[in-house]
Amino acid sequence: MPFEQLDAKADTKQTQPGLNITDIQDFTPPSKSANPATQESSATPASDQPFDVAQAKQTSTKTVYLDVGHCTSAEKDPFTGKVDQGFVTKDYTECQLNTAVGKMVARNLIDAGFQVIPTWNPFSEQKPPPVPKQEDLARRNAVVNNDISKYCDDSIYLSIHHDMDNSKKGGQCVYIADNKWDQAMPLAKSIQGSAWQVRERANVSQCINSDTTTQNGQLKGLRGVNAVGVLVEAANAMNPQDRALMSSPSHLAREARTISQGVINYFKLQPGKDRPHPACRRSLG
Ligand SMILES: [Zn+2]
Repeated sequence: MPFEQLDAKADTKQTQPGLNITDIQDFTPPSKSANPATQESSATPASDQPFDVAQAKQTSTKTVYLDVGHCTSAEKDPFTGKVDQGFVTKDYTECQLNTAVGKMVARNLIDAGFQVIPTWNPFSEQKPPPVPKQEDLARRNAVVNNDISKYCDDSIYLSIHHDMDNSKKGGQCVYIADNKWDQAMPLAKSIQGSAWQVRERANVSQCINSDTTTQNGQLKGLRGVNAVGVLVEAANAMNPQDRALMSSPSHLAREARTISQGVINYFKLQPGKDRPHPACRRSLG
C-alpha cells in the first residue's frame, strides 16, 4: 500500500474513538486511557484490509513497544555531533527507511486494535534531544520498562532496522537476545514466517540470529527491556535488488504489512503453551 493511501486512511481515523494517529502525534508515554477493544471497526471493507483485522481484534488488549532504530542519538558530541542515521546511501538513510516503515507498522497495528507505545515518537516533527548512544538506548528502554512496570500488559518489543550485510543476500533477518533465546523464538519465527522475503544465511535457519553475532556481542535494546523482543533487519542495502526496492514506498509498505502480520500471528498463539506469558507476570508469580 503506498503512503498516500495510508495517510488518507489515517485521516479518517482521527474522528474515531480509541487510540488513533492523533494520540501518537501527541504522544505522551504512556497513554492507557484509550481502550482499543472499544474501537470501531475500520470503514474499509474486509476484502481491502492488508491483513486479518477481524482476527486481530480478539487480541485488542495487547501492547507493542515499537522502536524505530537510529535517528535520536549523537555519538561524539550530543550538542554539535551528527545525529546517528544508521547507514547512509545516496538515495536514503537507514533512519529514513526505519521511520517510514515504523510509522506504517504503528498504523497497521493500531488499525488492528493493538496498543502501540513508541520508544520515541516517529510521527512528531520534533525529535528527542540528541544524547550519546548509550544514553539514548537507556532512554528508549526506560519508556518500555516504565510502562511494563505500571501495566504489565501482554506485550512485545519490536525494533525496526535495515542493514548493510556483506553477504549481499536479499531479504529480512531478525535478531533476538541470546539470554532470552527460547522465550523470544516464537516471536522470531512468527515475524520471519510472514517476512516479505527471508534472507538466506548459511547455517542460520529462517535468518533468526543471536545478538551475540553482532558487532557489539549484544543488543542493549533487546536485553534491557522486560519483554520478549526482536530486532528486524527488514532488507539489505548491500543487495542490489533490495537496495533498489527500498526506494519504493510500496515496497516499504509491504515490509510494514508483513512485519505487522507477523506480530498479529504471534498474539494468536496461546500464552504459556505456544508463546511465553509476559515476563512481568511470570516474575510476579
Ligand atoms: Zn540499524
